Amino acid sequence: MARPLLVNAAELLRRPGTERVISVPIGAVDLGLSDSRFTADEVIDVQLRLESLTDGIVVAGTISVPWHGQCRRCLRDLAEVAISEVDELYQTQVTNTEAFEIVDNQLDLLPMVREFALLDAPLAPLCQPDCAGLCPICGIDFNHKQCSCVPAPVESQWAVLDQLKAQLDGN
Ligand SMILES: [Zn+2]
Ligand SMILES: [Zn+2]
Repeated sequence: MARPLLVNAAELLRRPGTERVISVPIGAVDLGLSDSRFTADEVIDVQLRLESLTDGIVVAGTISVPWHGQCRRCLRDLAEVAISEVDELYQTQVTNTEAFEIVDNQLDLLPMVREFALLDAPLAPLCQPDCAGLCPICGIDFNHKQCSCVPAPVESQWAVLDQLKAQLDGN
């Protein structure tokens, strides 16, 4: 299988300050993303700029990850794109604990891109931050309608107080 995210780092490492742009569409399947958030034919857009330092290569840019899911409150189907902001370091001799390793002068961006996709495509999404959800009894979508089957403990408390007030007023 072709490895579109494998970059030869030799040239970059030879001359610190060298830049290289990586702009690749890559299939979810090629990234090994197979859970229900990702469909096989979907394309993940990788836009990265590589810049060499004296002790490594900085990889910065964005990864656009299309994902599918269902709102966890109203169960509406969702299809959106998560944008991951990337700012990572690759080193031949790893001195930074958060750096990825450059092996045999090859920079393998695939594990990093995969990690971002898995992290930024939500597992339990919401259609909107204040989604009102569904009525647990009749299943009506509170984002669009109201129903009368909701038990209302708050109202019954008021009813008790009203009764009490009526009694007091009566005296
Ligand atoms: Zn919702
Ligand atoms: Zn209802």
